Amino acid sequence: MKSAHTALAAIRELLGPEGTSDDPDVLAPRLREWRDRFHGATALLIRPATTGELSQVMRLCHEHRIGVVPQGGNTGLCGGAIPDASGSQVLISLERMQRILEVDAVGGTITAEAGCVLSRLQQAARDAGAQFALSLAAQGSAQIGGCIATNAGGTNVLRYGTARQQVLGLEVVLPDGRILDALRGLRKDTAGYDVKQWFIGAEGTLGIITKACCRLHPLPQASRTVMAAVRSPASALHLLAGLRGMLGESLSSFELLPRHGLELVLNWRKDARDPFDQPYPWYVLLEGDGRAAEDDALETALARVSAEGMVEAAVVAGSIAQAQALWQLRDELSAAQKHAGPSIKHDVAVPLAALDTFIARGTALAERLVPGSTVLAFGHVGDGNVHFNIGCPPGMNADTFLASWEVVAREVHDLVVAFGGTASAEHGIGQLKVTELARLRGGVELELMHGLKAMLDPHGIMNPGKVLAR
Ligand SMILES: Cc1cc2nc3c(=O)[nH]c(=O)nc-3n(C[C@H](O)[C@H](O)[C@H](O)COP(=O)(O)OP(=O)(O)OC[C@H]3O[C@@H](n4cnc5c(N)ncnc54)[C@H](O)[C@@H]3O)c2cc1C
Repeated sequence: MKSAHTALAAIRELLGPEGTSDDPDVLAPRLREWRDRFHGATALLIRPATTGELSQVMRLCHEHRIGVVPQGGNTGLCGGAIPDASGSQVLISLERMQRILEVDAVGGTITAEAGCVLSRLQQAARDAGAQFALSLAAQGSAQIGGCIATNAGGTNVLRYGTARQQVLGLEVVLPDGRILDALRGLRKDTAGYDVKQWFIGAEGTLGIITKACCRLHPLPQASRTVMAAVRSPASALHLLAGLRGMLGESLSSFELLPRHGLELVLNWRKDARDPFDQPYPWYVLLEGDGRAAEDDALETALARVSAEGMVEAAVVAGSIAQAQALWQLRDELSAAQKHAGPSIKHDVAVPLAALDTFIARGTALAERLVPGSTVLAFGHVGDGNVHFNIGCPPGMNADTFLASWEVVAREVHDLVVAFGGTASAEHGIGQLKVTELARLRGGVELELMHGLKAMLDPHGIMNPGKVLAR
């Protein structure tokens, strides 16, 4: 058996200078995570141009037991795309595999290589008069392969579902180099087990997604964007129920943010404006298309629920520019919070009926665990998904604060589970929550996960230490 060193030389030879790099300047941004919490090292950055090249690379890595870390746009928030510090793992980027292969307007599908950036995919769909529904603030960098690997959610889940619901077919290179060709665009297919599902949300621990065929939706003729001011998360939930009762599935986004969050964005982005002339404790950014946008249906529904006292005030975007300005207040929140200082972050989901109680009890818990901290609870509450982030108290040393991450996270997650929720709603497990997954999802479910991993990756080379403990 050749040494890992010889195998890496063979990979360099195979892919040529464009396909590999160990230039520190090229590697640096790829070896730290967006939040700067995880850092790693790598033996080599590998950038295959075709599925065939990647298959040969994987065969060599499998044979020589070289750990492989797939990386998309590196916008993941759990350290899943960052190699460990040993410097022995290789980093595989699909940035050279980014072609849009087909837009089938009749069949309502789009097929692309996995390195295609999400916003390009959305644009290609729009150019063909259709909509690719997955939408998130990192869409200018996140790749479709990364989005599928994390089963990304975002702002349209309420109506269109997560990445999983968009995927019709996949091509995947397995850890031993075999190529799974399940790149079908069928809406119906009951031929045995649905194998492609294993790779959605697996965070690159079972194989590398190289191509995806996804569902397209009709492009909405019109849409309405509204920011509503509400008294509390409970009022937001009443508003959601009221609007859904009147507008049904045409409500596509329902995002909650507190005043404190809005202020973070206003301080961070000097071009951003408070849409209201006075402060309110909570805001909901909501969007509707189809039925909601017909004949001012959303405004009419809002007026009715406002009359019932659910809404304090509302701003309806009168133009695309105004809608974009409202969305900026939501989309820039993660960046604004990062700029404002360290925080202990939780990406959780609870049943909708428990959401306001969870926020209230979680906030009291945060104050008990980290006195003086500020809770920023925001996110896709229409899906029961809250980003429950606890900010460092003023004057407290950042390292001391962050050292309490695991203790704090355990207690918050226990509260979430007590409400029947999940400690990982849309960002995944990565390396951040490996221990928590094992603690909170034991029993048969975890056994099956380990069984699948052992079957597909017997040498444990695929994204080692992510999702499941080694
Ligand atoms: C500002 C901001 C806002 C965000 N908002 C949202 C949001 O609303 N909803 C949401 O769900 N997420 C959100 N995220 C998180 C992130 O954008 C998503 O997790 C996204 O899906 C990651 O895509 P990526 O291409 O950057 O993947 P990466 O970060 O590069 O990788 C993520 C994981 O997928 C694996 N992976 C990457 N490519 C492949 C592949 N081709 N095959 C197999 N495995 C692969 C990696 O190994 C890693 O485990 C946000 C992030 C930021 C920075």
